[in-house]
Parts: sequence; C-alpha cells; structure tokens
Amino acid sequence: MATVKEAIDKLIQSNSDDTSVVSGLSRQIITQMNDLEPSILVNFESLPGLQTSVESRVNFYLQSTAKEYLRAALRESLRKNTSVKLKVNSAFRSTVQQHILHQLSIRAPRIIPLAAKPGNSNHENGLAIDINDHAIWQHYLEDHGWHWFGKGDPVHFHFAAPTVRHDIGTLGVKAFQTLWNRFNPNDLMTVDGNFGAQTAARMDRSPVGGFVMVTLFRLGDSGAVVTRIQQNLINAGFATPITGTFDQKTQDAVIKFQIDRGLKGDGAAGPMTLRALGIKL
Ligand SMILES: [Zn+2]
Repeated sequence: MATVKEAIDKLIQSNSDDTSVVSGLSRQIITQMNDLEPSILVNFESLPGLQTSVESRVNFYLQSTAKEYLRAALRESLRKNTSVKLKVNSAFRSTVQQHILHQLSIRAPRIIPLAAKPGNSNHENGLAIDINDHAIWQHYLEDHGWHWFGKGDPVHFHFAAPTVRHDIGTLGVKAFQTLWNRFNPNDLMTVDGNFGAQTAARMDRSPVGGFVMVTLFRLGDSGAVVTRIQQNLINAGFATPITGTFDQKTQDAVIKFQIDRGLKGDGAAGPMTLRALGIKL
C-alpha cells in the first residue's frame, strides 16, 4: 500500500490537492478520536437541507454544538425556500489531510499557497465548512453562529461559541500517535498531541488506506511481540533466550513448538502459531 509520503509526491506531480487518497487513514483517525473522547465529533450528513451524494469525499463531522447551530440555519432557510440545498465541499479535516496540505504549501505553493501546520486548522477542530454559493447562505449561517471568513477565502465559514473546544486538532494528533503506537509496537512515540518532526516522519511512512495489524513474525524481527513469543515458548517448554530479537534459536524453538502442536513447522509465527502460543494482538 502506498505511504502518505508517496501520496504527497504524486499530488505534486499531478498538481492536485485532492486528499481523498488518505480517506482510509482519515477514517481510522476519526474513529480513534471518538475513542479517546466519546462523541467529540458527530456526523451531520443527515441534516435536513443538506445536499449529499454517495460519492462524497467529505468527512461530515462537526462538534455537536456546531452541528446543532447548522441545523437551525438550515431549518430557517428551508422555511423560506425548500428547494435550495446547502452543498458542503469540505468539513472535518483529519490530521493526515492537514499534513498533506501543509506539505503541499511548503513544497508546491503553486498548488496550495498557504496551509496551517497539523493541529492548527479550524477544519481540524470540527468547526469549519467550505460551501458553494456563500452569497445565498451567508445570512442564514451568520444568524446562527457561523462566520464568513470574507473575500480572502469566500467558501469558508467557521463556527464560534463560548462552549466549543479549540483543542480538537491536538486531539487529532494524539489520535494518530495512539494509532501509530498500537500498530507499531517496535517504534513507539510519545502521545503528546504535538506535531513535531518525529510525528511527521512517521505519518509520512503510514499507509494511506489505514493501518493493518502485522500477524507474521519471523527471523530478523524484533520488538515487544517477539519478547512475548519467546516468553510463551519457554512457558510451553521450548527453550529460547528472551532477547526481543527473533534469532536462529527462537526460530528453532518455534519450529519445535509448531510440530508439537500439529502445525506446519515453518519457523514463522503467524496467526495460528500466535494463537497456539496464547498471544492475542
Ligand atoms: Zn475552509
């Protein structure tokens, strides 16, 4: 699977700022955010008066207060004119999407002249939408807490109220860091919500479609799971040093264990061998 870095290179080559290539990883980050803080982002795709489409690449997520005020604005507009629907072209932006836009602004300003560093855009806070026909909607939205940015970015509206949170972008960075650690137990990073060089480098190496758990450990691998494999081999009566590195002795022990349990003795610990060893990932 392509990495985020490869996706950025491709966008630069093709003069595009379409971040939908990372929608798999974005969805994983959104789910993780709502895991860290339940219902911090709510889906608003089903609001009456909104134009949606099945091919939509938009992440229809907002903070709940912003969603309710948008509902009220749409309700007022529907009362006056039932046929005009609000078309949202962009709403929530995940950390990885913001990382891509920020990288484009540095490496290819002709595509994106300016983009905030991940963690700092109000699209990442679930407080912004980009829409069609701002002239039609400005009045309804501004009556309900949504503010037009102005001619500098005419499609952009952001929601402001004393009750909203402004640290959701930071939560997004934390969610990515948490995800990375879960799927890369051999390369842990600090979960601090700070998008520094270490986080950027790991995001560049992340798969665009989202993380998939590796369930095969073999000669040359190392890390916390290998340590558990070695411990459980010993507990099962198969001698191997506990080093955290899958070396020749570990492989020999795995082969003996596999044959003992009626498995194929290939010396690589895949899902069946891990299960036989009592290791759940
Ligand atoms: Zn915007």
